[in-house]
Amino acid sequence: MDYKYSLRYFKEGWKSRLTNKPLFVTFFITARCNMRCKHCFYWKEMEKARKSSELSLSEIELLSKNMPPFPQLLIMGGEPFLRDDLYDIIKLFYHNNHTRFFILPTNGYFSDRVYSLCEKIITEMSDAYLLLHLSIDGVGEEHDRIRGLRGSFVRLMQTYEKVSLLEKADNNLYIEFLTCCSSFNKSAIEEMLRYLKEKYGVGTLCYNLVRAHPLDKEAKDIRPEDYLELINILHRDYKLKSIFEKLYYLRRKSVSYLNYENLKKKRKFLPCFAGRLNVVISEEGIIYPCELLPIPMGDLRKERFDFNKIWSSEETERVRDEVRKCSIRCTHETNVITNSTFSLKAYFYLFYLLLRSRPKKFISQ
Ligand code: SF4
Repeated sequence: MDYKYSLRYFKEGWKSRLTNKPLFVTFFITARCNMRCKHCFYWKEMEKARKSSELSLSEIELLSKNMPPFPQLLIMGGEPFLRDDLYDIIKLFYHNNHTRFFILPTNGYFSDRVYSLCEKIITEMSDAYLLLHLSIDGVGEEHDRIRGLRGSFVRLMQTYEKVSLLEKADNNLYIEFLTCCSSFNKSAIEEMLRYLKEKYGVGTLCYNLVRAHPLDKEAKDIRPEDYLELINILHRDYKLKSIFEKLYYLRRKSVSYLNYENLKKKRKFLPCFAGRLNVVISEEGIIYPCELLPIPMGDLRKERFDFNKIWSSEETERVRDEVRKCSIRCTHETNVITNSTFSLKAYFYLFYLLLRSRPKKFISQ
């Protein structure tokens, strides 16, 4: 990631803490998906998903025109590439909200659509950054079994082979493989790393811990010690060139350690900025503070897409009080990253962790 963008994010984050403006928006543009992953936390929404109930492009335009500028947008699904207007949606936030960092997770099944979207973004939004997350859960049939769709691994790799050509030619496109660590693939992480390295020379694998209430409850059968072991395996072979890269991955590793502590202690450690810096918008226009605490702050359709009215309403303040009291054992990386970046308590704690946990090992990338 570019250090100039990171500085902007850092500066705007602290400003947002004072001005109460959103910093990181998670927008579920669809709940439809062509797969049924065992670890998926959005499966209930998928079962009842209908294209006709999703926010239309013109409704999304109203939303973006009524939202303040914000730097970072995570586009979620379902499978985002099932929407034909994905590029137009991104363009709206690019123009109306000055958003310059887009994170786009995909199962990589629709190679041509992924390629053409990436190509369009890098040619028509040359100052925007796109982080494409290709979801991988195992190698070959193992991946297909977890994803519930035969042939999905082959399609994923075809997509990677195509878009990686664009990545080589453009500095603002980043492609990462992303795995959801669950009981189903905890023993397959080494194999995935080896495969990606030997076949494509890819040395890093981004990861999230399974969260909320997955389709198959067994997915969460993962002990804190298993998770710690995974973190160490996943970070073992990173070959990082610049200081900036080292800091970026150190931050990621710190988030994992905070998650490990949360898992172990079964309590929330950091203050949470959900509903203030982080916000979630559903495919039907309901605003929530976070995916794991789905208490509605407001319904965009009912409020004629007046985002600011919802954002400053009494109801939203009440929800923020619920966030302060939230006792969920939270390991949701998107929020933990924000909470640890914009809380002074996190810096003291990380310093303590560094001293306590063999500092050389911790930062030895
Ligand atoms: S602590 Fe975690 S689960 Fe609770 S509101 Fe914050 S982000 Fe959501």
